Amino acid sequence: PTDLNQLADEYLRLAYQNLRAKDQTFTADLRLKLDPALGQVNVAPQDMGRVLLNLYNNAFYAVQEKAKSLQDPAYQPQIEVRTQAVNGKVSLRVADNGTGIPPEILSKIYQPFFTTKPTGEVTGLGLSLSYDIITKGHGGTMEVESREGEGSEFVIQLPY
Ligand code: ADP
Ligand code: MG
Repeated sequence: PTDLNQLADEYLRLAYQNLRAKDQTFTADLRLKLDPALGQVNVAPQDMGRVLLNLYNNAFYAVQEKAKSLQDPAYQPQIEVRTQAVNGKVSLRVADNGTGIPPEILSKIYQPFFTTKPTGEVTGLGLSLSYDIITKGHGGTMEVESREGEGSEFVIQLPY
């Protein structure tokens, strides 16, 4: 039994701190909407931690890229994390207002080693691993909704 709200919160701060350690000028608006009725969820905390870090790092990357390309001080990077207990299941959403994902690559993002980022920086394994942890490891589902130029939202559903 794991406190998923706490895990989601801790790892978001960790990801943000890591990023700010490299780039102190970067700021993002972090929003946590955690359902107090969530309670304990039966997940492996280390595996879920990896999933969260992958999603958060991707989200931060997407808002950073957008900030760089826009060069508009009015753009405020934003990451929103939401948990909810619904119909005996847990949902966890990670949304960003970053670059978004072009429709033609949306079907490839879960493939191992698929990446659009410069080589050396990343592995392209984050989402493939995360997808396996959620589906095979926890009997859950993972979906994505994205609009190019607007942002992305990853939605995980888990049984208790
Ligand atoms: P990596 O981050 O190492 O590239 P991932 O498996 O985590 O590998 O993601 C695969 C690809 O999916 C990324 O290279 C990127 O093109 C896309 N992607 C994933 N998450 C996001 C996001 N939040 N916003 C925009 N693109 C994303
Ligand atoms: Mg990644």
